[in-house]
Amino acid sequence: MPDAIDEVPAFLSGGGVMGALMRSHDWAATPFGPIEDWPQSLRAMVGACLNSPLLGTVLWGPELRMLYNDAYIPSMADRHPAALGLPVAQVWGEVWEIVAPPFHHAMRTGEGFAQNRVELPMVRNGQPEVTYWNISATPIFGEDGQILGLLNQGIEITGQVLAEHQRLVAQQQLRDLNEQLAREVAIRTEERNLMWDTSPDLMVVINFAGVIQRVNPAWTAVLGYLPEELIGHHVNEFITDEDHPLTVDAYLTTAAGDTVRIVNRYRHKNGAQHSISWVAAPSGDRTYATGRDITEEIARQAQLESTHEQLRQAQKMEAVGQLTGGLAHDFNNLLAGISVSLEMIETRVRQDRIGDVAKYLRVAQSATRRAAALTHRLLAFSRRQTLAPKAINAGKLVGGMLDMVQRTVGPTVVVEHFCSSGLWTALVDPSQLENALLNLCLNARDAMPEGGRITVETGNRVFDAVSARQHDIPQGEYLAIRVSDSGTGMSPEVLAKAFDPFFTTKPQGEGTGLGLSMIYGFAQQSGGQVRIYSQLGSGTTVSLYLPRYLGTAEGESGSPGLPPMLPAQRGETVLVVDDEPTVRVLVTDFLGDLGYRAIEVADGIAGLEVLQSGVHIDLLVTDFGLPGGMNGLQLANAGRLSRPDLRVLFITGYAESALFHNGRLEPGMAVLTKPFAVNDLAERMHELIGQSAAMRG
Ligand code: ADP
Ligand code: MG
Repeated sequence: MPDAIDEVPAFLSGGGVMGALMRSHDWAATPFGPIEDWPQSLRAMVGACLNSPLLGTVLWGPELRMLYNDAYIPSMADRHPAALGLPVAQVWGEVWEIVAPPFHHAMRTGEGFAQNRVELPMVRNGQPEVTYWNISATPIFGEDGQILGLLNQGIEITGQVLAEHQRLVAQQQLRDLNEQLAREVAIRTEERNLMWDTSPDLMVVINFAGVIQRVNPAWTAVLGYLPEELIGHHVNEFITDEDHPLTVDAYLTTAAGDTVRIVNRYRHKNGAQHSISWVAAPSGDRTYATGRDITEEIARQAQLESTHEQLRQAQKMEAVGQLTGGLAHDFNNLLAGISVSLEMIETRVRQDRIGDVAKYLRVAQSATRRAAALTHRLLAFSRRQTLAPKAINAGKLVGGMLDMVQRTVGPTVVVEHFCSSGLWTALVDPSQLENALLNLCLNARDAMPEGGRITVETGNRVFDAVSARQHDIPQGEYLAIRVSDSGTGMSPEVLAKAFDPFFTTKPQGEGTGLGLSMIYGFAQQSGGQVRIYSQLGSGTTVSLYLPRYLGTAEGESGSPGLPPMLPAQRGETVLVVDDEPTVRVLVTDFLGDLGYRAIEVADGIAGLEVLQSGVHIDLLVTDFGLPGGMNGLQLANAGRLSRPDLRVLFITGYAESALFHNGRLEPGMAVLTKPFAVNDLAERMHELIGQSAAMRG
């Protein structure tokens, strides 16, 4: 490759094309003379021009044969041989077609040309590609003015063109992107606005001082206020007084950067109260909150609760119905025992065989006690109670019910109870647990028409991680009550539906399908679980798991044991107030037997007269419900005005006992629920009089 003027071919020296070139550029006018006389520097300059790495230069001689080229040309394309003397068409290859016209024109007319961005497809390194060029040609004239050739220069601008192209594409993409973004923002904004405008939920923007900044139209629909009645006002102006602190807490919490959820009550413009459930979150110096009106939901929930309560009650009544049916027969037996004994006593008294009387008395008393215990249970059972969880000892509770259960299921079914020692306490509503147990036993009885065995087990049960998963129960400690029977068992289909409300396989009128569903509800409500294991033909086991309660069981009341009758200590005086003459007579007689002095009156007014007189009274025993406008409690309170340390024993029917359970009884007062055993009465009186004696010193 020629890189110095020394290698310039001979034809360039002296005259020839080079001379013509020099002349055409008017270099002849220079004082340098023939090329061999040029100073070295000038020859180097022309050489450098021909070898410029930026600009490709070719000299085309007559017939456009290549006279000379520089280093640039061979690098231009694969196929262009740099050999001197070749015709232009061969040097340019197929692109010659494209560039030929201006070359021919220049050779013909002597007019040079310059063309920019000429697009030339080429093959380079075996790869076809599109290249771009700025091309120019300057004719070279001989002395006689004839056209000798062309000084042809070219520079490739492919990189530049491509870069520009890419820039344009990128610009377009950017423009497209911007437009798309703008479109999306518009769509989103419209969507937001649409949501803001059409949402049935309340939306509000408030500042951290609780002042409303923006509200959506739902406020008008839900609470009746127009935006202008809300904006600029403190949010608490629309909230019921009790919920002010809660609301302030909520927006202060969001001010501190947290999300909050609250329910508070708003006053509708028409005065009605609406419960709104809010989710609020801060952004910048505002709180953004969305609220849903849950007033109806709350009402529905309450309705549902009350329906459940009714259902519970209905189911309990059903159990009572079954219970009484089962008990009627037994009661007749007890009554027979009493009436026969009375007849025998009458006969023996007539025969003057007084010594035999005691035996019949014992028979009659024992029957009466059993009957009383049963009615007591029945009454306790049918009493309408809302859920009142108590810490209970389930073993005692089950033990106390066995008699009733046995009587209900009849003699063909054996009822047994196993209670493990050290039984844990559970916190449940005892009457509901009794109800559940009774229902399980009734189901067991129904599954054993030919008779069989009911086993009630009470024990402790721990579910660790593995067994908890097996039984699908939360891990933990439970009190387990298990009722097993040797009955028909259940098919998988029946088992799958057994807990469903109203699912029963029993004939119409015999089953309500509520027993197990209520037991399920009770277990859930008490934080426990209930599980059935049953196979057709091999009996059923129902397990009730109640969470262990880490406290001691509350004392059981009035266990029907028979302590010795407690006589009066010093012949104390008791004022008996009851409107029922038989009760009055019996109580008075009984008091007399125990050595008390009894004063009896029939109503509150008469009772108060006695209390306000100077008569010495150690104890007031009064019915709660009394005729004449003054009840037992009012009588006691009035009496205490003149006798501050008056002891009082109220005797009440179960319906009124609730009055005392709710309100706390004052010291020196006690309640005895009808029906009661006389020895309970003796015991209570003894206690009260003992207390008053202690108080007096
Ligand atoms: P009901 O006793 O009124 O039918 P329950 O909810 O108490 O309603 O019981 C639903 C059904 O589950 C019963 O009808 C019976 O088919 C089945 N079932 C319940 N307990 C037992 C049991 N111990 N043995 C066999 N089947 C039982
Ligand atoms: Mg049942």
